[in-house]
Amino acid sequence: MVLVPEEDGGSRAYRGVMVAGCPMGEAGFVDVRGYTAPRRRPSRGQRLCVVEASVVVACGGLLGDALEALHRRPPFAIKPRRGDFLLFDGSARALVGATPVGVYVWRSALGVVACGPTAEPVREEVRAALLDAACAAVPQLREAGVAGSYSGLRPGCDLSADYQIGRAEGSSWVTVGAIRSTGLTGALGIARRAAALCDEAWRESGGAAEPPPPPSGAVRTTPLPPLHEIAASYRARADGSVVFGADEAGFGPHLVTHPLTAAGLDAQLAGMLRGTAI
Ligand SMILES: Cc1cc2nc3c(=O)[nH]c(=O)nc-3n(C[C@H](O)[C@H](O)[C@H](O)COP(=O)(O)OP(=O)(O)OC[C@H]3O[C@@H](n4cnc5c(N)ncnc54)[C@H](O)[C@@H]3O)c2cc1C
Repeated sequence: MVLVPEEDGGSRAYRGVMVAGCPMGEAGFVDVRGYTAPRRRPSRGQRLCVVEASVVVACGGLLGDALEALHRRPPFAIKPRRGDFLLFDGSARALVGATPVGVYVWRSALGVVACGPTAEPVREEVRAALLDAACAAVPQLREAGVAGSYSGLRPGCDLSADYQIGRAEGSSWVTVGAIRSTGLTGALGIARRAAALCDEAWRESGGAAEPPPPPSGAVRTTPLPPLHEIAASYRARADGSVVFGADEAGFGPHLVTHPLTAAGLDAQLAGMLRGTAI
């Protein structure tokens, strides 16, 4: 995805654009070259689009090093850390309340009891250790069935445990890489640091003395509707996606990709059919 600022102070998100090159263009600008389909290599029917940017913020997640390589020699290599989670069946629901038990066992907003994460090399024993940790916190979980599990890859890197946030030398390329966890507290600090680097790059690239002001217009958001409405939309659409309320902002359907949310919505759906959902 590519996010491009617009003149009214807002910005436009180009979804499904795969950036395939970011050479230095003229007068210190970076040419962000992308293809209008999420493929690594262009194929017939794909359209090339080029955006000339005075400042580029590169945040490619698990592909962060490959994205860097489109502009410069990558300063780090992404080394994903795998996190494993276990999901327990409905019999566990009454055992865990809204307050998580230890750092490992919690109940999701949609009522699924989960346990995790780890940050270990991929091994089967890791799941057994996770189950032991959950049962140490809530012994009755030994009696509950494990209904599923999921793993997630977080974008760590080879240099250190630190996030890689900085500017490429002599360029207006700002890297926000190896972000293993955004989190509420981390997100604000990351954003502040990235914004300061963008201001600096903007000034050095010969932009106006002051960087463009933040958007003054209303920010379009999708307020989260009540959970039962989300579950009802999930059931009605029956394609793994949900639409939030009347969708006044016109965002369209959101595909449910997080395994914990999908498990919770599936459990809600089963409950709806039995008449026991939230
Ligand atoms: C299962 C799981 C659970 C997690 N739970 C939590 C949690 O509860 N709390 C928390 O704080 N963190 C959590 N994390 C970690 C969090 O998701 C990451 O830290 C965060 O998403 C990293 O943000 P990012 O912007 O660096 O990368 P991403 O969110 O991965 O975004 C990178 C984007 O760049 C795009 N991209 C890459 N290359 C190109 C290219 N060439 N052209 C166009 N687009 C490109 C990718 O498609 C992607 O959309 C979890 C991660 C996983 C896997």
